[in-house]
Amino acid sequence: MSIPAETCATCLKPQHLCVCEAIDPVDNRIAVVILEHPQEKREVLGTAQITRLQLKNATVRVGLSWPGLKRILGHEVDYKRWGVLYLGAAKQAGEGPREEIAAVDRNGKALADSDAVLAGLDGIILLDGTWSQAKTLWWRNPWLLKCRRLVLNPRFRSLYGQTRREPRRDSVSTLEAAAFALSRLENDPTLFDRMLKPFALLLKKTRAPRPRPPVPSAAAPDAPPAPESAPAPAPAPDDSSP
Ligand SMILES: [Zn+2]
Repeated sequence: MSIPAETCATCLKPQHLCVCEAIDPVDNRIAVVILEHPQEKREVLGTAQITRLQLKNATVRVGLSWPGLKRILGHEVDYKRWGVLYLGAAKQAGEGPREEIAAVDRNGKALADSDAVLAGLDGIILLDGTWSQAKTLWWRNPWLLKCRRLVLNPRFRSLYGQTRREPRRDSVSTLEAAAFALSRLENDPTLFDRMLKPFALLLKKTRAPRPRPPVPSAAAPDAPPAPESAPAPAPAPDDSSP
């Protein structure tokens, strides 16, 4: 599918779904880096660009692999002060209530010093895509193993609802995950709702009835993307242990 000419250059949505009017950037202290799977970039309901616009301190990179955070950010980082939202679910440690956000070990168990780790974070990394796309990004970027692993236990229902059929990590959009994590890490509960406004508008516009132009004939001139572009090589074991 070719990129429609009437795409908004700012929010990268089709003009009829433009969410720029709802953009209200947050001055976030903890940096956000979003690694976006190339296939997710074509997704109309993707939220990486909205997240970037909603945060003054955010970076989006589209691709499959990068040598490290320095290449992405242009400066050295202390990987121990960066957290990546981990794909696995948090394991219940004991019978206590699950934390809304926790730093976990490679087995998904909350670290004893989780609160101190969270308090010392300089930035968080989100992998944007479907569950399998995010998994591909995880395995293609071994430097992620140097970062802290964070898990979210969000107690809210994603705005995605039934709009998107493809299963996602915890069925939460990248924007919602970033908003939830930052609102907790920066101790500002208002940040969550504020960040989500453009997403709510996007879903409202998506659901609004819209007169559609006649569907072009099945033999469209531009062929669908070849399946060879789908990255599926790495047999993914359950953990990163050698
Ligand atoms: Zn726009």
